[in-house]
Amino acid sequence: MAFVYFDHNATTPLAEPVLDAMLPFLRDQYGNASSRHDLGITARRAIDNAREQVAALVNVRPPQVVFTSGGTEANNLFIKGAAEILKPSQIAVSAIEHPCVAKPSEALARKGWTLRKLAVTRDGVVDMNDVDAALQTPTGIVSVMTANNETGVIQPVAEIAERARAAKAWMHTDAVQALGKIAVDFEALNVHAMTLSAHKIYGPKGAGALIVDKRIELAPLLAGGGHEHGLRSGTENVPAIVGFGAAAELAASRLDELAARMEKLRARVEQGLTQMGAVIFGAGAARVPNTSYFAFKGIDGETLIIELDKLGFGVAAGAACSSANPEPSATLLAMGIAPEIARGAVRFSLGAANTAQNVDEFLVAVKQVVARLKNLTAMAV
Ligand code: PLP
Repeated sequence: MAFVYFDHNATTPLAEPVLDAMLPFLRDQYGNASSRHDLGITARRAIDNAREQVAALVNVRPPQVVFTSGGTEANNLFIKGAAEILKPSQIAVSAIEHPCVAKPSEALARKGWTLRKLAVTRDGVVDMNDVDAALQTPTGIVSVMTANNETGVIQPVAEIAERARAAKAWMHTDAVQALGKIAVDFEALNVHAMTLSAHKIYGPKGAGALIVDKRIELAPLLAGGGHEHGLRSGTENVPAIVGFGAAAELAASRLDELAARMEKLRARVEQGLTQMGAVIFGAGAARVPNTSYFAFKGIDGETLIIELDKLGFGVAAGAACSSANPEPSATLLAMGIAPEIARGAVRFSLGAANTAQNVDEFLVAVKQVVARLKNLTAMAV
């Protein structure tokens, strides 16, 4: 029985052209990009090329791309790097940010900053009234993700950025879960900084970027040789950066086709799930096309994913990075979903290789497992 992967928001498989682009840099082209000889120059050129590919995907100039070890580092670089430069005031972040934004923001609260969590509606969209209320207080930093990793709900980043700019705050967006799924345009979003990650777009793990508006100054997290315009010292991970560039080019080339295909498959799965009585979180809001977040009343999400795994389907309970944590999803609680419903949450996230047949087989498996678990619960009461 082949395993069917529906957990692309956790990570994606490496695309074949990405692997092809990386392989020479894992074999013969091992130069240090700072070296002045032929091998070094080849590595430097490859990084320059990747920088152009990533810049093109989000509509910026190549020098605005600062390569990092991934999304987590880029988010930390922005929040900690901005806090070093700005005078402490308020930092406003949405209540549904990934822990790699939420935690560094909480850390600032211990360094003289005031942390303000922006409320979301029942559909998981940041509440603009709460943004307006928050910005009545002097604010240095605002960070709101482009799309949520659990619900897939797209956030009104450009509108928030307009208000943040009017309040003289620096606006950042974590676009990790939006990239490759919808068009992500740095200029159109009007932000000062944006976080990207390669492994969510069929690139390698351990590569990402912070896109920066050159008019702001950030302090680096790492001091050293001054790589990446002084913002990220350390010998560049050339194969990973090359892979990120290739993944960015691939994402740009197939964005519309992939989005249309995902949207159709998601509609198919959601129709089946609602017929079986599932609730779909964030369904009333605009969402990235590959994500569906659902629950069956009275059925534990963790149990459901384990049973589905046994039948050969990979889905996630809440955010993958926090699945060791038995607490219900903070995102769902922020949306005002009752904890007993939130405990049932299962995240289904489609990717390029999924087919309608995969979805139909998944629905059959869900039906079978849900019926069995419902019987067990009925027998227990
Ligand atoms: N931001 C969001 C919204 C994510 O979903 C993730 C990964 O799950 C990250 C940041 C972290 O990115 P990385 O795994 O590259 O550190």
